[in-house]
Amino acid sequence: MKKNDLFLIGGIIVFVFVAFLLLLIFRTEGSKVLITIDGKEHKTFNINEDTTYNILLDNGEWNILEIKDGYVKMLDASCPDKLCVKHNKIRYNTESITCLPNGVDIRVIGGEESDLDAIAK
Ligand SMILES: [Zn+2]
Repeated sequence: MKKNDLFLIGGIIVFVFVAFLLLLIFRTEGSKVLITIDGKEHKTFNINEDTTYNILLDNGEWNILEIKDGYVKMLDASCPDKLCVKHNKIRYNTESITCLPNGVDIRVIGGEESDLDAIAK
């Protein structure tokens, strides 16, 4: 093996490592969770901060949101259909969980596109 080959391989390894690191940083900084109630912005969370949040509506209805390990899910809700509770966990940009009866919409914004995830499924 020539010396130049070693430099080339070393360069590729460094490049891949840096690219991976940037991806990781981008993912960490990028993703937010936006809660909208009746189309109005209610609250924003960082998707990387584990939390449980109770959304209380003026009419007494409620939704409980959980953010854990970078995923968002509806833990429980007062709506009759519970479709939002049955919804899969979300984590990628533009994915959302909507609770139609309560008018609550939870959306991931500014994060990574879901192309990779689609392949993994
Ligand atoms: Zn619901």
